[in-house]
Amino acid sequence: MADYKMTIGGEMIDSAQTLDVINPATEKVFATCPDATMEQLDAAVDAAQKAFRDWSQRPIDERKDLVRQLAANVAKHRDDLINLLVTEQGKPISNATKEVEFTSYFAMTTAALDLSPEVLRDDEQMRVEAHYKPIGVVGAIAPWNYPLLLAYWKVFAALVAGNCVVLKPSPYTPLTTLKAAQLFNDILPPGVLNVVSGGDELGRWIVEHPGVAKISFTGSSATGKKIVAAAAGTLKRVTLELGGNDAAIVLDDADPEAIAEKIFWTAFNNSGQICMAIKRLYVQDAIYDRMCDALTKLAQTVTVGEGSDEASMLGPVQNRMQFDRVRGIIEDTKQKGRRFLTGGDVPEKPGYFIPVTLVADAQEGDRLVDEEPFGPILPIIKFSEVEDVIARANASEYGLGGSIWTSNVERGSELAAQLDSGTVWVNQHSVVLPDIPFGGAKNSGLGCEGAAEGLKNFCQLQVVNVAR
Ligand code: NAD
Repeated sequence: MADYKMTIGGEMIDSAQTLDVINPATEKVFATCPDATMEQLDAAVDAAQKAFRDWSQRPIDERKDLVRQLAANVAKHRDDLINLLVTEQGKPISNATKEVEFTSYFAMTTAALDLSPEVLRDDEQMRVEAHYKPIGVVGAIAPWNYPLLLAYWKVFAALVAGNCVVLKPSPYTPLTTLKAAQLFNDILPPGVLNVVSGGDELGRWIVEHPGVAKISFTGSSATGKKIVAAAAGTLKRVTLELGGNDAAIVLDDADPEAIAEKIFWTAFNNSGQICMAIKRLYVQDAIYDRMCDALTKLAQTVTVGEGSDEASMLGPVQNRMQFDRVRGIIEDTKQKGRRFLTGGDVPEKPGYFIPVTLVADAQEGDRLVDEEPFGPILPIIKFSEVEDVIARANASEYGLGGSIWTSNVERGSELAAQLDSGTVWVNQHSVVLPDIPFGGAKNSGLGCEGAAEGLKNFCQLQVVNVAR
């Protein structure tokens, strides 16, 4: 019997097979969750389809009101959710607290978005309106870096838009997601939200399931491409929030000491496991050494340790696969002879701990620069000409975010607009909010989440054209 249960049709459901869940700070199994069978997925889709008839007919304000109640319930059970999140994800208590609070905030904000019909034309010949109708059953598939927030952001938007959901958390971090679904069981009608846990294969079954009308996915670009291919058979609607390799460009009119803290935490928050973290830091030659010094000083003040320890500012990376990947990138960087300002030596002890690693004089062609490391390691790359650095920043398969750092905001905005990414920032980075659309260019995604644009990604557009 698994320690945590799935939610299918409003019932708590176990499974004959279970999956182990590992605490990344100790590498020890601390709980189990069900490993859903195909029949259980069928039951979840069936429950969602049955619930859809009533849910989609309810006035949107009623659905919004229930989503607000979900927010209140997350807030009520925040301490339990925070503790579980720290144990399964590895992040420090302060970060887990923010994630849980953000989950409530995203629910409240999503419930305040407007999805009213829009008048497209109104003249002597015709009145034309755009209506946004629910699609049916949404298959939501989530990653392990922000397991609660990223999974439920999809759920809140899908429910407000009138859909029912079958949600699958990452097999690395299923517990907080399963627990939250149980907290919502008293609020939502049975079948409106179903949560099934399992491995990657379960994700593939969801994508191929004929009863699922839409896939909303957050995860790696490699999986995103598989999903597009697998969704072709049933021509599902697909929204993909994928990987990134965001460049931040610091111009020589910026003040390195003043911006160091913001840049540092945008790169290293959540141990670098954020899709739109700064992953390539380009600094203009005149201030390069000062920027390196300011970041090094900050790095030396950071405590890396178990998330449950109040003193920890960064936790371990989340899983063995990610740990090995980041270590491989560190090895490659060493072999290239790059200059390690801090870190680089991974301690021999239990837990997936990697020290804060800053690498100077990194170059394109290094794995560290060309790939998405998704760990606490940042390359600092020198540049001379602004035109050249924009081209280098854009020479990436990814296009999630990018930023310009400068004391001249007008020039910064002009340059930021030249970056090929879904979001560009000036003098900040990684600011993602539920009332602002967020989506990637190139291999970083398809469609968007957030704001009315994100809600519309959970809808079928219907044009209503009435002759006068
Ligand atoms: P992943 O692609 O390995 O897994 C994500 C989810 O997809 C998991 O639930 C997994 O079980 C499932 N899955 C795996 N194979 C599948 C398949 N063939 N069909 C259907 N589902 C499948 O990603 P991850 O390692 O969990 O997450 C890290 C990645 O996510 C990074 O690249 C990161 O940049 C990206 N990410 C993007 C955003 C964004 O908003 N753009 C946010 C967070 C993370």
